[in-house]
Amino acid sequence: MKRPVDRQTFDEVMVPNYAPSDVIPVRGQGSRVWDQYGREYIDFAGGIAVNVLGHCHPVLVDSLCEQAHQLWHLSNVWTNEPALRLAQQLCAATFADRVFFANSGAEANEAALKLARKYAHDHYGPDKHQIIAFSGAFHGRTLFTASVGGQAKYSEGFEPLPGGILHLPYNDIAALEEAISNHTCAVIVEPIQGEAGVLPADPAFLRRARELCDQYHALLIFDEVQTGVGRTGVLYAYMDYGVTPDILTSAKALGGGFPVAAMLTHQEIAAAFTLGSHGSTYGGNPLACRVASRVLELVSDPAVLQGVRERHQWFREGLQEINRELSLFSDIRGKGLLIGCALNSRWQGRARELLNAAQSMGVMLLIAGPDVLRLAPSLIIPQEDVELGLERLKRALALRIAADREEG
Ligand SMILES: *Cc1c(COP(=O)(O)O)cnc(C)c1O
Repeated sequence: MKRPVDRQTFDEVMVPNYAPSDVIPVRGQGSRVWDQYGREYIDFAGGIAVNVLGHCHPVLVDSLCEQAHQLWHLSNVWTNEPALRLAQQLCAATFADRVFFANSGAEANEAALKLARKYAHDHYGPDKHQIIAFSGAFHGRTLFTASVGGQAKYSEGFEPLPGGILHLPYNDIAALEEAISNHTCAVIVEPIQGEAGVLPADPAFLRRARELCDQYHALLIFDEVQTGVGRTGVLYAYMDYGVTPDILTSAKALGGGFPVAAMLTHQEIAAAFTLGSHGSTYGGNPLACRVASRVLELVSDPAVLQGVRERHQWFREGLQEINRELSLFSDIRGKGLLIGCALNSRWQGRARELLNAAQSMGVMLLIAGPDVLRLAPSLIIPQEDVELGLERLKRALALRIAADREEG
């Protein structure tokens, strides 16, 4: 007989780079999740901005099962129909006309950064290798992407780090104007910084970044790993900003919970990746691409995207009402269903504590740093679940506040 597994098992057999909750979810349907004890949770986390169509969406389950009976994997010596179809869809829906598939956001960014280096190297020589990135940015956990990311805690202790990377303050036009030069090969930016606390870019900042990149022949890379695939109420956030990048990366929501990532670009830039320059064993596998095709199809429905903007209002109003009564947030920000609630001075540094409180009342949340609660639910979360979740959240927060008063 198999021994039951629980939270303690984690400490016995897993590398301690996470500190997971005591709750172990075992099943999900739509925006509800159940744990080992059958307790129910409303999911305002969406995995981590991943499950755009909720858990176990029947259409996605069917696609996955159909493909599972057909073909799982081939080497890149052969291409496959699901990958070709997904690439066609991505090209038809965006600025891009070339696609590279990977398995995670970090890998898509790794490909984007390598492509930018290679393109600059081939066209302008080895001196044009500087990558400009922004403080607070998160681009993944490979050594290159963690070094390009703008939070030192993710690269400290892993030195020596890859060189030729410059960090500037986010949304600071003057700093970018000052720093960019003919040595810059790429500027990489999140249209909304997710991990840093749900911080949207100023439209003027992105517009100026576009102009400067054109002027200095640098490539503009948008990391849309968190903002992409309907999250902000348009298919990709760049569409709303009216600023088109040269390279865009997409992951998280793209597979609706199945691992897949894509790097999108133009043919002229893509050409710098010649035969053998880059690759991935699992990237573009038929299972992932078949599911992602369906995700893209479903999310592209104008009614779904309109629904995201509508749900943003439900959340905003509900959270504002909570705040009127409980006074926790100094700001409620974000777009579509990527929402950040910045904690006021009294609650600074205590986001994780509030996440735990919400969990014990049956709501799953995310945090974005120690000072921000983050919500990134399914794009099709039913109104009933939004209301019930917010009600539970309010009760959880009120209880936490009362306990806080008692503790003095
Ligand atoms: C999550 C995230 C990544 C990393 O994606 P992984 O799939 O974890 O490698 C990169 N960039 C942004 C903006 C993200 O939110």
